[in-house]
Amino acid sequence: MHVKPSNNEEEYFARQEVSRRRKVAEERHSAFISEDRERERNLHLMKCPKCGMELEEINFADVRIDKCFSCHGLWLDKGELEAIRGQDSGFMERLSSLFRQ
Ligand SMILES: [Zn+2]
Repeated sequence: MHVKPSNNEEEYFARQEVSRRRKVAEERHSAFISEDRERERNLHLMKCPKCGMELEEINFADVRIDKCFSCHGLWLDKGELEAIRGQDSGFMERLSSLFRQ
């Protein structure tokens, strides 16, 4: 004989199903966010933040500087400002003369 499940049982299984689907949706959302972030990162990596052109990495006295030869900006990564501060007093002049035309 078929016994109709009680309302409590139906509700219990519905709640389980909703909880499972919510978890799947949240995992999909997280995966989407990290894929999106990775895509954005690859899109902007070594591109000038001002004009969007390619940045060139220049090594000068153990300091790595990202240079844009399009808008002539100079960009420093984390720790590079401190590396410049550690240089001798003529460093800034030598650096700016490097890019003087
Ligand atoms: Zn630029």
